[in-house]
Amino acid sequence: MDIQALKDKLLFNNAQYNFEKIEKAYRYAQEAHSGQRRNSGEEYINHPLEVASILAELEMDDSTIIAALLHDVAEDTEQTLDNIRKVFGSEVADLVDGVTKLGKIEYKSKMEVQVENLRKMFLAMAKDIRVVLIKLADRLHNMRTLKYQSEKKQKEISQETLEIYAPLANRLGIFRIKWELEDLAFRFLNTQEYYDLVEGIALKRKERQDQINEVIEILKVKLEEVGIEADIAGRPKNFYSIYKKMVNQNKDLSEIFDLTAIRVVVETVNDCYGSLGIIHTLWKPIPGRFKDYIAMPKPNMYQSLHTTLISNHGEPFEIQIRTWEMHRTAEYGIAAHWKYKEGKKDENNFEQKLSWLRQLLEWQHDSRDAGEFMESLKLDLFADTVFVFTPKGDVVELPADSCPIDFAYRVHTDVGHGCIGAKINGRIVTLDTKLKNGDIIEILTTKNPAGPSRDWVCLVKTSQAKNRIRQWFRKEKREENILRGRDGLEKEARKMGMEPASALKNENIQKLAKSFNFNGNEDLYATLGDGAITFKRALGRLKDEILKEEVEINYLQKGEQRPPSKSSHGVRVKGVDNILVRFSRCCNPLPGDDIVGFITRGRGVSVHRRDCNELFGMTSEEQERLVEVEWEKNIDSVYPVDIEIIGMDRARFVTDIMNVIMETRTHMLAMNARVGKDHVSHVNLKIEARNLEHLNFVLQKIRRIKDVTVVERIQSGGSN
Ligand code: MN
Repeated sequence: MDIQALKDKLLFNNAQYNFEKIEKAYRYAQEAHSGQRRNSGEEYINHPLEVASILAELEMDDSTIIAALLHDVAEDTEQTLDNIRKVFGSEVADLVDGVTKLGKIEYKSKMEVQVENLRKMFLAMAKDIRVVLIKLADRLHNMRTLKYQSEKKQKEISQETLEIYAPLANRLGIFRIKWELEDLAFRFLNTQEYYDLVEGIALKRKERQDQINEVIEILKVKLEEVGIEADIAGRPKNFYSIYKKMVNQNKDLSEIFDLTAIRVVVETVNDCYGSLGIIHTLWKPIPGRFKDYIAMPKPNMYQSLHTTLISNHGEPFEIQIRTWEMHRTAEYGIAAHWKYKEGKKDENNFEQKLSWLRQLLEWQHDSRDAGEFMESLKLDLFADTVFVFTPKGDVVELPADSCPIDFAYRVHTDVGHGCIGAKINGRIVTLDTKLKNGDIIEILTTKNPAGPSRDWVCLVKTSQAKNRIRQWFRKEKREENILRGRDGLEKEARKMGMEPASALKNENIQKLAKSFNFNGNEDLYATLGDGAITFKRALGRLKDEILKEEVEINYLQKGEQRPPSKSSHGVRVKGVDNILVRFSRCCNPLPGDDIVGFITRGRGVSVHRRDCNELFGMTSEEQERLVEVEWEKNIDSVYPVDIEIIGMDRARFVTDIMNVIMETRTHMLAMNARVGKDHVSHVNLKIEARNLEHLNFVLQKIRRIKDVTVVERIQSGGSN
C-alpha cells in the first residue's frame, strides 16, 4: 500500500479532499515512523496507510483521514501532539489525542457488566465519534495482521475485539467492520471450529449455489420485465453469526438454512415493495418470516424487507430487498450518516436519522437534544458521566465531578465511612479531587475510622454517598440522643416529685413509647434527647395515662370514705419511742414522701421532706441532729399540702378546679386565685391530703383540666 493507492480510493469517493494536506500528513508520519517496522517486517507507515484506507472506504472526511495517518505518531510524547496541533490544526490534533488516549485503556475484567461499562467508557473518552471510527479501523487492520503476533497476544486481542470492538461497530451500525472483526477474532479464538465451519459451509454452498444462481436468473428477468432496475447478488453470511446461531440454538450446520441471503438492491422504496410483490408470485413465502424493516427500522436504523421463500426444489432461502441508501446505512452505519453533515439534507429522512442517533443516546439513560448532538457530532453522550477503575480493573460509573468519596461509597458503605484518603493513579490526592475518565482509584482506609466528616456532604455528587453520610450522622447523633433522653427524663421526673426507679420502670416506659407510636424505648429516648418531645410532655402523659391507672386502682380500692381526722402524726422516729413529733410548716410532708427528722432544741423532732429547702445549707453540726424517721403503716391522718396551678384564664377555670377537689373528696383549707395582665391565671390551694397517692391523684385530675399548664406541689408560703 502506498499513498497513491490511498489517493485513488479517495478520488473514487465523490468528495472534495485536501490532497495536499493529506500528502503532508503522510510524509510527516513516514518521517516519524522511519526505521520502525511492524511485526510482519514491513515498514511501519504501511499500518497508518491501511487504517486511512479503511476510513476512505467509509468515505470519511479530510481530518479523519489525516488523523488516521498520524494516529500512532503521538503515542508517547506530548511534544509531538503539540507539534501536530501546530502543523495540522486543533481538529486533527484532538482526533489524534483521542485515539492515543483510547489506546491506553486496559481491559482486565471479563464480567459482562464490566464489558458494557468499558464500551461506554470507550465512547465517553472518545468525545468525538470519529475517534471511535479511527480506533475501529486501527483495530481492523491490526486484526488483519494478527498472525504476526504471539499466540497469547492473538487470543487476548481477539477476545477484546469480540467483547469491545465488534459490539461497538454493531452499535454504530458499521456491519462491514463488525462482520470482519468477528470472523477474524473467531478464527484466532476457536481456530478448529472456524475452519470446520468454513469448510462445511463451502461444501453446502456448492450444493446450493446452482439453486441460488437459478433464483437470481429468474428474478433478474422478471424485474427487468416490469422495469425495476436491480442489483441482485448472493451474500454469504458471516461465519461468526452462523457459529453463534449453532451454539445458541444448539443446531447442526445442516439445520441452518440461511447461510446465504440473496440481496436485491433497487433505486426507490416503491421498487422495494414492487420487487417483493413479484418475488411472492414467483416463490411461496414461509408464513411469519416476512419482516418489514422499512416501515419499522431496527434500532440502529437498519432498513430492508426480509422474506423467506421455498425454492422450486423445496428448500428455504432468504431474500433481502433494500434501496442503495439503505444498503449504505447497513454497511457503514454512522459513517454513512457522516456524509449528510455537509452534503444534501434529505429532510424526509432527517427525523429517521435523529431517531437512530437517539438510540445511541439511550446508553446515557436520559434524553438530550438530539439535534444538537447531530450538529456537533461530538460524542458527549456521557458528558454527565465519568468512568474510573478500581485497583482490580473493574470499571465504576459515576456522575461527572464525582470525588474519591463518591467512589468509596460506591465500593462499599464501610469503605466510605472508613475513608481517610485516596490515591489516583498511584498518587495521594485530596478528597475533593474531581475524578477523570480512566483514573485508577485506590481508597485508603483505617481500621478504626472516625467516620465521615460533615463537609463530605458538600463534596460528594452521588446521592448514594450523600445518604450514607447523613445516615451515619443520624445514627451517631441518635446514640447521643438516647443517652441525653434517658438522663433528662430521670432528672425531670425527680423534679416533678416522681420516683424514677418506679415511675420510669421499663414497663411504664414501654407503654409511654407505645402511646407516642414508637417502636421501642430507644426511639422514645432518642426523640426526647433530640428535643422533638419535651420531657414535661412525656412525663405529663406518663402521669396522666399510665401512672394514673395504678393510682386510681389503688385509691379506689382503699375505700371512698372521707379520710379520718387527724389523730396521730403517723410518723415514727427510728429507735426512739414516745418522742414528740411535729410537722414542719415549710414542706408539709405527706405519707409516701421521703422524709427525715430533725431534733429540735426542746420541741421534739420536726419532720421534713427530704428535699425540703430548709435542709439545704445546714451546718455540719446541724446535720448531726438529723434522724431517720418513717411513716407508720395504716395512717389515719390528713396533712396540709400547698399546690399551685397555672393556666390560661377563661370562664369556669377556677370552677373546674373546684369540681376536681369535690370529685376527689378532698378537703380544701384555703384558696387564692389571681389573674395577671397576660391572662395567666395563678391558683393557690391548700388542701388536706391523706398521702402521696391521694395528692398525686388530685394533681393528675387537675392537670387534665383544659388550659392548665402547670400543677405543682409547692412549699408553703408561695411558689418555690
Ligand atoms: Mn495503530
